[in-house]
Order: sequence, then C-alpha cells, then structure tokens
Amino acid sequence: MLNGAPGQAVGHSKTAERIIAMGLAAYLQSIINDESSSLLRGRLELARDQAQALEDQVAQLQAPHTLANNPVPTSFVEHRGALFKRIGRGSYEKRVFCPSCMSPMTSFKRTFPYSCARCQYSAEFSAIDLQEVMMTL
Ligand SMILES: [Zn+2]
Repeated sequence: MLNGAPGQAVGHSKTAERIIAMGLAAYLQSIINDESSSLLRGRLELARDQAQALEDQVAQLQAPHTLANNPVPTSFVEHRGALFKRIGRGSYEKRVFCPSCMSPMTSFKRTFPYSCARCQYSAEFSAIDLQEVMMTL
C-alpha cells in the first residue's frame, strides 16, 4: 500500500527521481509488471492510462509553443529553389528568401542569380526573371 510506514520515507526521493526520469506512465507500467495482485494491477493500469493521456496532452500543448519559436512559418512557399512569402490568397511579396536560412536574398545588378549574403546559397534565377518566376507560383 502507498500509505506506508515512516521507514519508507528514505526511498521516496529516489522514487521521485525515477518517476521524473522515466515519466509517470512508464513508471506505473514498471509497477504493474511487478505487481502480483490482479485487482491492484487493474487500478494501476487505469492510473497509467490517465498518466499517459496527460503526458500526451502536455506534449501537444508544448508543440505550438515550439512552432512559435521556429523560424519556418507556413506562409512561405518554396518555388524554383527559393522561398516566397505569401501575403494573401494567391499573392506573394515581391522578395526572394533563402530556403536554407530564410534571409532575404539579393540579385546583384538584377542579372546575377539571387544569392544569400548570410549562407552563400544561390538561387537559379535573377531579378530580371522574378516576374516570370512569380507567374508560375
Ligand atoms: Zn541563406
């Protein structure tokens, strides 16, 4: 039983460490594996399922936060080896972005291929082709 004798308190911090390291659901599973009472196993399985559901929910809640910190927004479209920023339904900003580091790219003298000053990536078209390239976006 969990409400054990005071002597068990010594092991509690170790147990807490194990739970944190394994995750609660996995820890409960390890107890279930060692438990001989089928009644207690059934209860622990319910607790394990609840713990697993909570762990999944926490992971889901944390996911959008991770996306918010991710510099790859879904409004970018890759086309002809460059990224274009969508600013509305079917319309795009008239700028070219680097597909590897997301920085704006420039086309020297409008005739040299767009290149990224930050990571040296080079696109396959230049500024004079931009209109034509964007027509096929
Ligand atoms: Zn780049």
